[in-house]
Amino acid sequence: MRIPFPPLDRLVPDHVRGFEAYIPSRPDDVLCRLYRCERLYRLNNNENPLGPPEAARKVLDNWPPSEASVYPSGDAYHLRCRLGERLGLDPDCFIVGNGANEVIAFVIKAFCKEGDNIVTADRTFAVYEWVAQFSGFEARVLPLKDDRFDGEAMLAAMDERTKVLFLCNPNNPTGTYWSEDELRSFLDSVNGRCIVVVDEAYMEFVEASDFPRTVSMLDDYPNLVVFRTFSKMYGLAGLRIGYLFGDRRVVDDIRRTCVVYSVNGPAQVAAMAALSDDGPHIKGTRKMCRKAREYLLEELAGMGLPHTVREGNFAVVSLPMSDTLAYRKLMRRGIMIRSMTGFRAPNQIRVTLSTLSVMEEFVKALRGIIT
Ligand SMILES: *Cc1c(COP(=O)(O)O)cnc(C)c1O
Repeated sequence: MRIPFPPLDRLVPDHVRGFEAYIPSRPDDVLCRLYRCERLYRLNNNENPLGPPEAARKVLDNWPPSEASVYPSGDAYHLRCRLGERLGLDPDCFIVGNGANEVIAFVIKAFCKEGDNIVTADRTFAVYEWVAQFSGFEARVLPLKDDRFDGEAMLAAMDERTKVLFLCNPNNPTGTYWSEDELRSFLDSVNGRCIVVVDEAYMEFVEASDFPRTVSMLDDYPNLVVFRTFSKMYGLAGLRIGYLFGDRRVVDDIRRTCVVYSVNGPAQVAAMAALSDDGPHIKGTRKMCRKAREYLLEELAGMGLPHTVREGNFAVVSLPMSDTLAYRKLMRRGIMIRSMTGFRAPNQIRVTLSTLSVMEEFVKALRGIIT
């Protein structure tokens, strides 16, 4: 006799039941069959088409398969030491995670309990909001103002149950950024009342000289926690590795919520190697982005499509049709973009900056679907 089916209505909390699961895209082979395209350019995830720096490639090539049977360093010891030297911080100021995505969960778990909230924006990286919600916490999501975080509104939305503010700098997807002066004055107003996360996933792409040097702001603002990732500029998205840093005492509390061994061995050695010779890599990637930006600006203006191409390795384009329809039409032409309905901006798409030839393919496909 079969036992009764588990009473999911009772077992699953409402905040989990009410949450719409994120559906990742299917693998290339499946999509190519589905959309009848021969090859697929993925311009949806802001990956670096140049791949990882040379030294990281070498380390991966030489990674001994026998090491697969051994657990990696549980807390990415050597990588944290390397990051510490590089940024001039104690290695214990860092927590490395399975992508920056994982450290978002560490932070929310460390600070929020029932009835608490986090504050962020509506058109920014959605994972802050998602993790809060499916963990049972309120996410106060404020509209951007002129494509920028509205600091005043965020301050007004804060209360004594606000534990974490999440800023994305530069912002994905709008490409706007807080200058150091702006960030400092915002942090002055927050006045240490809660944790302020600044997600710098795209900081290596920024060339503006007034971009904040958050490392040297920690002394003044010990409530500041910074996220970075090896997924974007460093071309290691497939290995899943990112990190946070902050004041040692704050990080010591976040560390209590970490699952050790979540960062695999190849990711740790590749990340270390990537840091060791990132100069030429960053220079080359920035150059590619500049060319893509120039090209897109000209073509999109020519097509009369409103667009923003600011900081970061992505652009946003407004279309005279729904973004989900545009997604399907572009997929048939072998181009995957990010539809912006998820960012509460229907009719807009986000496209990753890539090599000139891929940008040309994108523009060709875009012309094809709007005419
Ligand atoms: C891509 C991205 C991340 C996540 O990076 P992973 O390290 O791959 O998890 C975090 N924040 C922003 C804003 C991103 O765009």
